[in-house]
Amino acid sequence: MQLEGKIALVTGSTSGIGLGIAEAFAREGADVVMNGLGKPADIEAAMARVSEHGTRVAYDGANMLHGGEIAAMVAKAEEDFGRLDILVNNAGIQHVSPIESFPIEKWDQIIAINLTSAFHTIRAAVPGMKARKAGRIINMASAHSLTASPYKAAYVAAKHGLAGLTKTVALELAEVGVTCNAISPGFVWTPLVAGQIPDLARSQSISEEAARKQVLSRQPTRQFVTIEQVAALAVFLASEAAAPITGANYSVDGGWTAE
Ligand code: NAD
Repeated sequence: MQLEGKIALVTGSTSGIGLGIAEAFAREGADVVMNGLGKPADIEAAMARVSEHGTRVAYDGANMLHGGEIAAMVAKAEEDFGRLDILVNNAGIQHVSPIESFPIEKWDQIIAINLTSAFHTIRAAVPGMKARKAGRIINMASAHSLTASPYKAAYVAAKHGLAGLTKTVALELAEVGVTCNAISPGFVWTPLVAGQIPDLARSQSISEEAARKQVLSRQPTRQFVTIEQVAALAVFLASEAAAPITGANYSVDGGWTAE
């Protein structure tokens, strides 16, 4: 097991990629603090899936819109589990709209959840990691941290920002045994992507099947990336073997950003 005895916090782990990472970490022996929104029954079901691997699993309902709640979540995780070894900033939302009608509140929410929340978690977690001279920070960026698409102004801006934050934190912590890397998936079949298909179909008056094909037209493999494939990279970046890797931004995008 690659993460035996490690303590991990994964934001946005009640669904999709974050839940897959929480499960993969637990399978590798880590205790996991989960976070994210959702109905209580769904959160319980997600926790039950992660608990199946026999490690300790906790949940913190901190809203990634609020810096105070985020700092309190990190402090509580350190208090309850003794320390934090691995931090995964994964929570994220999307909104698709032309720039001139992009709702201002959506811009603010996307920047807060997809970018500023990572600043708050990292800010709160770094003192403990620095003191122990060990830590792993993984930021869930996107192909949209490297390239753009129309109608995704806030998401593209936030993910480019997250890529810059990743590099800055990596440089600041390079000599103290703490790494900071980004993972940049292309299209992964999760609720976030599934939710965009009906909107795309409606806005272009095409079928949902045609909308799925259109989404995949950006991805040269013409296949969705799986949650398990992204989670496997997160496990590797969290492992001892990844000690010299820092400031990197790994594409898992079926060739999208190679074009
Ligand atoms: P998802 O919608 O399945 O999961 C998002 C998670 O974030 C959920 O647990 C949700 O509860 C949580 N979240 C949302 N708002 C929150 C808030 N205010 N406070 C706390 N938690 C909040 O989405 P996903 O596809 O699994 O996306 C996860 C991450 O991966 C996001 O950062 C996303 O941008 C990134 N990503 C996804 C894809 C993809 O194709 N699915 C591609 C590239 C990057």
